[in-house]
Amino acid sequence: MSLEKSASSSVIYPEIKERLAKQGYQLYGKQIAVKKCLWTHNYLKEDRFCYKSAYGIQSHRCIQATPTLLCNHQCLFCWRLQEKDIGKKPFWKVKDSDFDTPEEVYQGLIWGWKRCISGYKPIVSQEKFSNASKPKHVALSLAGEPTLYPFMVELLSLLHEKGLTTFLVSNGTIPKAFEKMFKAGVFPTQLYITIPAPSKDDYIKTCKPLIKNGWEEINRSLELMAKMTGRTVTRLTMAKKINMIKPKEYVPLIKKANPSFIEVKGFVPVGFSQYRVTRANMPYIEDIQSFTNQIKEELPEYKQVFEMEESKVIILSNNKHPLKIDNL
Ligand code: SF4
Repeated sequence: MSLEKSASSSVIYPEIKERLAKQGYQLYGKQIAVKKCLWTHNYLKEDRFCYKSAYGIQSHRCIQATPTLLCNHQCLFCWRLQEKDIGKKPFWKVKDSDFDTPEEVYQGLIWGWKRCISGYKPIVSQEKFSNASKPKHVALSLAGEPTLYPFMVELLSLLHEKGLTTFLVSNGTIPKAFEKMFKAGVFPTQLYITIPAPSKDDYIKTCKPLIKNGWEEINRSLELMAKMTGRTVTRLTMAKKINMIKPKEYVPLIKKANPSFIEVKGFVPVGFSQYRVTRANMPYIEDIQSFTNQIKEELPEYKQVFEMEESKVIILSNNKHPLKIDNL
């Protein structure tokens, strides 16, 4: 039973935890969640890797997790179960003591991962299962805004110390979290900031933020990203008729961040996003190609380095970093 490691003192609505547990989320402590990615299954059963294999990530050794289930956005295309989806009041501001410690997060990730893969032991080769039992990577991108977690620098340090690489996918609304990274000199192996819309008005319609100055904060985070020397990505999660509009207006925002990579990725109606958007909002790879081409015209330093139809994703690179991560 997935909820057995959930703390009773958690600020998360019990109804949300119950629904998440039913969806296969492994919940641990106050706010930690791990979920088996579809691609973990796809690799274990069918030898098919997800698009992150372009960066060298092996889907059967990648923990998809979050240290917080809270978010200050309510994006239409989000697969997270949002409070208002079940008629509850949304909130995101809580005390530091409402989060788990970095050590607890690490323990929760390992506990959750074991549960995610345990069922494969009798049905895949011993070698595959043995490799899967030794995860190498953590994608902090499951549900919730990870930079709300107040101990992110300490968590990243701990995960790296344990030999894990990290991807951190952020909505960019907490530039202070990145300032802390600069101060500590600790960054994820690859940092993503999502640019959710081409303008402030479109942002408000798309993300329905719970904060007043989200757009300004995202812009500040993009400026900070430009100063980072490590691997950085601006992600555009595209939903037709919502934020897949005005491609040229994305260009100055991307330029502001000067990322190593640009990921243009089609929204897929999975999880709880189906409450808010429909398949009609889902772009096909041809739509992604044509949108990306319009952006690329204004960004000659970026070249397409990867495309995967199944994941509806195109990756552009300015060659600041090799596509594949060293020593994975
Ligand atoms: S910022 Fe991310 S987690 Fe938050 S609502 Fe938007 S897509 Fe979901």
